[in-house]
Amino acid sequence: MATVEQHLPETHNGAVSAAAGIPVENPATGEIIATVPDLGADAVAEMAARARAAQPEWEAYGFEGRARVMLRAQKWIMDNAARVVETIVSETGKTYEDAQLAEIGYAGNAFGFWANEAQGYLADEHVKSSQLLVKGKKLLLRYRPIGLVGVIGPWNYPLTNSFGDCIPALMAGNTVILKPSEVTPLTSLLLADALRECGLPEDVLQIATGRGETGAALVGHVDMIMFTGSTRTGRKVAAEAAARLIPASLELGGKDPMIVLSDADLERAANFATYYSMQNAGQTCISIERVYVEEPVYDEFVAKVAEKVRALRVGKPEGFGTVEVGAITFPPQLEIIKDHVQDALDKGAKVLAGGHELPGAGRFYEPTVLVDVDHTMKIMTEETFGPTLPIMRVRDADEAVELSNNSHYGLGSSVFTRDTKRGEAIARRLEAGAANVNDAMINYTVLELPMGGAKASGLGSRHGAGGIRKYCSQQAIVVTRMGMKKELFMYPYRPRTSRMLAGLFKLLYGRGKRA
Ligand code: NDP
Repeated sequence: MATVEQHLPETHNGAVSAAAGIPVENPATGEIIATVPDLGADAVAEMAARARAAQPEWEAYGFEGRARVMLRAQKWIMDNAARVVETIVSETGKTYEDAQLAEIGYAGNAFGFWANEAQGYLADEHVKSSQLLVKGKKLLLRYRPIGLVGVIGPWNYPLTNSFGDCIPALMAGNTVILKPSEVTPLTSLLLADALRECGLPEDVLQIATGRGETGAALVGHVDMIMFTGSTRTGRKVAAEAAARLIPASLELGGKDPMIVLSDADLERAANFATYYSMQNAGQTCISIERVYVEEPVYDEFVAKVAEKVRALRVGKPEGFGTVEVGAITFPPQLEIIKDHVQDALDKGAKVLAGGHELPGAGRFYEPTVLVDVDHTMKIMTEETFGPTLPIMRVRDADEAVELSNNSHYGLGSSVFTRDTKRGEAIARRLEAGAANVNDAMINYTVLELPMGGAKASGLGSRHGAGGIRKYCSQQAIVVTRMGMKKELFMYPYRPRTSRMLAGLFKLLYGRGKRA
């Protein structure tokens, strides 16, 4: 077992020794593999002071200087991919493939994307105005770094989720304090070391390991908070941010529907349903979590999915190619999964594959397919966050859309049909931040597209222009180059000038019709 105090800057050690450590467990074995400091509110306040002191120099690096560090980090990730994958696997219990594809692949792309695109997204915008009084003036919209950004991350993707937000926040010229989940802090500590090695100045990115209280303390010190996690905690963070009048961006839970129409390529649809429900052992915010299938193809689709899911291997990942489904990372999640399956069975659902926790060391749940399900069951309405796939028969596309939208969540969604025009029309009716036709989750990899949730799935978005502009405050700049000594409307007020202005307004704005 290792302690990872050495990852923290010297000045943290007082706080570290004063606080009890948090044990980090390997969910696939149950072994404790490290302990990390449980930083209290005082330590967070000290970190915030250091971050504020470091910010002006980091901003002065400019886009090119900051991009150089990020591009070095991109190369570092690729050179050290095996080590990063091992770290992620050890603290999440996910498969090597899940770590490689959705974490290394994402981070490699993200470091390069934001290094190359940040300047374009944040360049001064020259604005043209129809307002007569500003004709001839220079009008600019400028994005300036907001200062100190707090990022709070969940345990399911310790690299992708947390650094997917840290990278644009840093590229915008901010300093960042990242609070990783207490369950998965090791990847963040490793990456912070890596970034220092790549030239990131001291205190520009700090990792505040700790529990929920550490996250709450962080919200009290930053200029903007980026939170990824459950809707329940997201509401608390939003309330605290509102009290401090700081912006909050929230990426929260989901219950992503998939619709399979009778003209769909059933083999593709079944493969997608199997992969995106079981990938990362179902612990992915944007995925496939419930399926609605049109009557004529229901039996064939269900048979295909059940056969594919039964063939999946679940257990401790021993390297690439050893299992398809890894561990349940967060201990309480296993109880939620069991509760949702039991609730469905109690209300008449049938299990076609899986349905049990694995005995022995580590935390595993069999890949599970359920049928005869409906919206009275938690498995269809609440976020299960496990390797479960409930499939429901529907009359037609309209019923599928209605049931898909019958949720307080609205993160991702998918429609499968050979008629892509109809698929797109259905996608537009889905109340979700993302809708894929004949695909699933792929939108997350397109960093040019916004990724954010509708309804209780979030506020704001990551990726695209909005994914970096949210880390900035906007400043409007107006430059008057050649001005008169006095403007027409200024003192003293005279009836003649007021009549003239009234006539001018009428001319400009009064020519429309009322009916
Ligand atoms: P939680 O909401 O439990 O925790 C998220 C983070 O918030 C953790 O770091 C947690 O610390 C911290 N935290 C807990 N309490 C507070 C508080 N009062 N103030 C500030 N921070 C606090 O979520 P999970 O970690 O369980 O993550 C799973 C959830 O995340 C799922 O609902 C999933 O859908 C969602 N998610 C959403 C994504 C999206 O992009 N929309 C992506 C990935 C996940 P600690 O862990 O130490 O308690």
